[in-house]
Formats: sequence, structure tokens, C-alpha cells
Amino acid sequence: MNRIELKTIVLSKEIPLCEYRGAFVFPERFEEACSRCPGYGGCWACPPYGFDVREIWSSYDSILLYAKKTVIPSELTERIYAPEELKAVYEELLAPVEEELVTELRRMEAGTPGSLMLTSGGCLLCGTCARLEGAPCRYPDKLRYSIESIGGDVVGSLRSYFGEKVLWAANGRLPEYFILLGGLLKKYQ
Ligand code: SF4
Repeated sequence: MNRIELKTIVLSKEIPLCEYRGAFVFPERFEEACSRCPGYGGCWACPPYGFDVREIWSSYDSILLYAKKTVIPSELTERIYAPEELKAVYEELLAPVEEELVTELRRMEAGTPGSLMLTSGGCLLCGTCARLEGAPCRYPDKLRYSIESIGGDVVGSLRSYFGEKVLWAANGRLPEYFILLGGLLKKYQ
């Protein structure tokens, strides 16, 4: 696929965790959903975890929700793709946006004392996660979790705070847009 210029907009909003946790954090529900994923237990940034994820949420005061919404050009959404082709095209579009989101969140975390970034997906740091080899994480100081992997409701957060609906590829077609949501957990100073 030739390089295509994508239009991406940023959505962000900070919410006190006393409000967010009660409405959008459900560790049991999301771990049950994660347990049906083929990648379950295959990465140190995915459940099951050897700790209670509530400890993370209870250690901070607010969450800055930070999302990127990327519109997929009609020349790509009008086509019907074979399953493998659809997966490859989707990943090719998604990967640079995800990398950019994570880079921006890491920068925000570095500039906000006591904060912790949350990613929009699995860990991107190694080609193959050490967990698959039964070994400890290679970069524990850089390992970060995604919102959903610690029980956060991404679909509900995007709908409630930004009025955005999450779309997926279906029936051989790409969605009109995709949205990646990460976050920054913060402590009041
Ligand atoms: S840093 Fe590497 S070993 Fe650690 S969770 Fe990420 S991919 Fe796995």
C-alpha cells in the first residue's frame, strides 16, 4: 500500500477518579473479556496479573483521557478485502498512530511528576514478549498497561466523554475511522 496521509484529531479530557472509577472501571468484567483473547497471558502488559489492578486506580486522583481519532480515506473504505488483507491493511494504518500516541503519552508522563501513562493496546517494546518464554519482563521500568487491561471501559469512556462510537472492520470492509484511547493517571499535588 502506498503511504497515505491520514487525518487524525486528538480528543482529551481530565476526569477525577472518584467519578471515573465508579462508572468506568470494572476489573472482573474486562478480565473475563480478555481471557477469551488468544493473547491472554502472552504478554506482561496483559492479564492475568499477579496483583490487584484496583491498586493502580486507587493510587491516583485523576485520569487524563487522551485519544486519537483517525479517519480512513474513502478510497480504502470502499473496497472489500480478503480477511488476511483486511488485517494487514488495518494494522498498517493503526501501527504508526499507536506509536505516536504512546510516544506522546510517554512525554506527558515524563513531564508530570508522579503520573503513570496507560496505553491503548499491548506492549510494543519487544518483538516477542519475554512472558512467552517464561522469562521476566525485559524492561519493567518501561512496561505500561492499557486502560482496558486493568479494567477500564474504553467504549463507554469514548461514548460518554467525547460522544464517539467505536467502529470495527466488518464484512471485509475497513471502518470509516478508528479511535485509540490512552491515558495519564495523575496525582493532585
Ligand atoms: S517490555 Fe518486552 S518483555 Fe516487557 S511486557 Fe513489553 S514486550 Fe513484554
